[in-house]
Formats: sequence, C-alpha cells, structure tokens
Amino acid sequence: MRKRKPTEKMQHDFWPNSKPKFAETREEALARLAEFSQTASRYSRERNHVVSGHPNVSRLSPAIRHRLISEEEAVRAVLERYAFSTVEKFLQEIYWRRYWKSWLAMRPQVWTEYLMDLATLKEGEDHERAQEISEGRGPIAVMNDFAHELIETGYLHNHARMWFAAYWIHTLRLPWQLGADFFYRHLLDADPASNTLSWRWVAGLQTIGKSYLARRSNIEKYLHPDLLKTKGLELLENPSPASVQFENAGNREIKAPVRKNPSMDLARKTILWLHEEDLSVETWINRPTLAKIDQVIVTWDSSDASRVKKSWLEAAITDAVSRWNIPTILQRQRTPTIENEQFTQVIAVRPEIGPLNDTLPEVEQSLSMKGMDLHLVEREEDLLLQGAAKGGFFSFWKSLAPNIRSMKEL
Ligand SMILES: Cc1cc2nc3c(=O)[nH]c(=O)nc-3n(C[C@H](O)[C@H](O)[C@H](O)COP(=O)(O)OP(=O)(O)OC[C@H]3O[C@@H](n4cnc5c(N)ncnc54)[C@H](O)[C@@H]3O)c2cc1C
Repeated sequence: MRKRKPTEKMQHDFWPNSKPKFAETREEALARLAEFSQTASRYSRERNHVVSGHPNVSRLSPAIRHRLISEEEAVRAVLERYAFSTVEKFLQEIYWRRYWKSWLAMRPQVWTEYLMDLATLKEGEDHERAQEISEGRGPIAVMNDFAHELIETGYLHNHARMWFAAYWIHTLRLPWQLGADFFYRHLLDADPASNTLSWRWVAGLQTIGKSYLARRSNIEKYLHPDLLKTKGLELLENPSPASVQFENAGNREIKAPVRKNPSMDLARKTILWLHEEDLSVETWINRPTLAKIDQVIVTWDSSDASRVKKSWLEAAITDAVSRWNIPTILQRQRTPTIENEQFTQVIAVRPEIGPLNDTLPEVEQSLSMKGMDLHLVEREEDLLLQGAAKGGFFSFWKSLAPNIRSMKEL
C-alpha cells in the first residue's frame, strides 16, 4: 500500500489507528478502570500529550459523570497498585469534578446567570460565527479537527478542550457562554459544573486576572506530529487575552441554598426516580431503603444532545435498568410522571446544580398535588464535601488529601 505523505492527510484523522471507545456500562467502566490502573503511574508524565485514541488518559469521564462508577472506586483501584505519591496527580484530577460541583453548589447564581446570558446570546450577532466555528469552518486547521472530533466522538482530550476554548474566547473573541453550550450539547461527560466553570476559568473569570491562552509552541509540543497541521497556527504566535466582562463581586458570593428534605417514611410505598446523574444507586443506597423500593421510574432527556451523546446515554440507561429486578418504567423526559396513586413517596438522588436541579421545584409541586413527597438522598462522600470549596482547588485538596491517603490503608 502506498504510504501517505503528511500533506495528504485526511481532513480530520484524529484517530487514524484507533477510534477511542468510551465505556457505556458499569461492567465496561470497571474493566477500563482495571486496565488504566495498570499504567496509572505514567499518568502525571504523559497525560498532557494529545495522541490518537487518547491512551494517556483514562477516558472514564462519561462513566464517572453519570456515575456508572464513582470517584471513590477510581481512587481505590489506583491506590491498590501504587503509593499515594505516585498517583497523586491522577487523584487530584478525579477530585476536580467534586471541587467544581461544590463550588457551584455554593454559588448557584453563576449557573442561573450563565443560562440567562446564553438565552440572549443565542439571539445575538455572534451566534452565526459561533455556529461556523462549531462546524469546524474556522481559520485554524487543528481547531477545526477538534470541533469535528467532538461532534463525531463526544469527547476531547483536556488539553484540546483548553486550546479550543482559549481559541474561541481570546483569538476569535466569541462569548464563552456560546462555546460552553457547544461543548455541553456534544460532550458525553457534559457536566454543568465542570463545563461552565472550566470555560469561565479559560476566560479569566474563575481566577480573576488569570486567563488561559492557547500558544502555537504549546500545541506543537503536546499535539502528536501525526495530528498537527500548521494552517492558521500563526494566529496563536502571540496571543493576548480578550477583555472579559467581570461581573460585580456579588456573583461570586457564597449563597448556598438551604436544602430541606422531608424525612423518609419506611412504612410508605416508595418509587425510586432514577436519573442520569447517578446510574449506580443500587451500589450504595442503604439496605432498609433499598428493601422499600417497589418500583423504579427512569427518566432521561437528551432532546438538546447530539446524536452520539443520545446514543451513549441510551446505552448507559439500558445498562442501569438491567441492574434492577423490580418493575421499571422508562420515561424519555426530564422529570417523572407518576400515575399510580398507591405510591406516596418518591426517592431520588439529589441532582447537582444544573438542568435537572432546576426542575426540582416543579417536580415537588406536581408530586405534592398528588399527595406524594419527594425525598432526596445523597451519597455520604458527597455530603462530606458540601461547603468545602470556599477557596481555590489546592486548599480544597489539602484538606481532602489525608482522607484519600488513608483509603490506601482501608
Ligand atoms: C473548557 C473545558 C470544558 C470541560 N468540560 C467538562 C465537562 O463538561 N465534563 C467533564 O467531566 N469534564 C470537563 N472538562 C474537564 C476535563 O477536560 C475532562 O474531565 C477530561 O478531559 C476527561 O477525560 P478523561 O476521563 O480521560 O480524564 P483523565 O485525565 O483520565 O482524568 C480522570 C478523571 O478525572 C476527572 N477530571 C479530570 N480533569 C478534570 C477537570 N479539569 N475538571 C473536572 N474533572 C476532571 C474526570 O472525571 C476524569 O474522568 C472540561 C475542561 C475544559 C478545559
């Protein structure tokens, strides 16, 4: 076979040898975790290098985001093989998600303002240009490849996400909110906290005065030569930050909402509302509660999601359902519709700040009109981290690290 010259590269061959696969079931996620754990000691050295098929990173984010597996399972798997210090970088990355969640839960107004800005921007003049860039029709060839990769696989390596977001905000001077929305609709791991706050971090809104810039030299160093295309890279030779509009200081004030839960009554007939934020409830919910569940209603809403994301989510939902052996009703909608009035209590995992959490007042109201209560439950490890993101990530990590280290001994 004739060997291709570099100039004859296909338009977007970011996985010339192996299209990455993302675990869709709990079993696949545990298998990928076991495989990744064998080489986790190399993670801190290699993780920033963007290589076809993404072998240098775990590719577990869709599974962890939807909790086919938990952060703690990932931590235990690597600590079983290695010393804490050998894998500390990986452990920190795992806890970035929890840090962002905790940060946003304490400042829910940041989410609400993002949604309001987005609604306005979708009607505005930047929308068409944003659409062009999302379709991979921009001036920099590698960024176009990243846009195609995201659309076709539902994933981008962390470094590529950083480069692309910086290009969007600081080179093209497009609003970060439109970029965050593009990612959210396509990423299999789309997470309201990690996505919104990472875009804000690149823009310079999270750490005031510090933005992330994509530089040609950094891309040439970390993007594998097989994936590197030079067209347009001159635009990233001397990048300078866009002046982002800083919100008034009130935006970052801690305004954690009061969480109220009616206490659960173990004598009442109970439905579990299973949703996409936690697909392995059966692995951690306490036994007396588990024994009381008479029916499961599963909801998921992928109406705004891409084709690839819809299909991943349906597979993950199917897998979650297969692990319950009591009657299960599937509802392709964001919130549950409960017709059977024998049930007077619904339990669900409390959704974190994001689209599902936004629906809670409406769900509670519609259930109470039928004489039903909504009882929200949380994993113990999530409860422990509530209120922990008062400052930056590293102080969060410093307070958490001794507990993580002690998991090695357990
Ligand atoms: C602009 C931008 C948008 C992003 N949007 C999302 C998003 O919507 N959902 C999402 O899960 N991640 C998001 N990230 C974070 C990060 O890019 C992905 O979590 C990571 O690339 C997932 O790949 P992996 O599983 O191979 O990660 P690995 O490098 O193998 O890391 C292990 C695990 O740690 C967690 N993790 C790693 N880095 C981060 C991080 N920076 N923030 C939060 N968690 C992290 C993930 O659960 C990941 O599976 C975003 C980053 C940027 C710069």
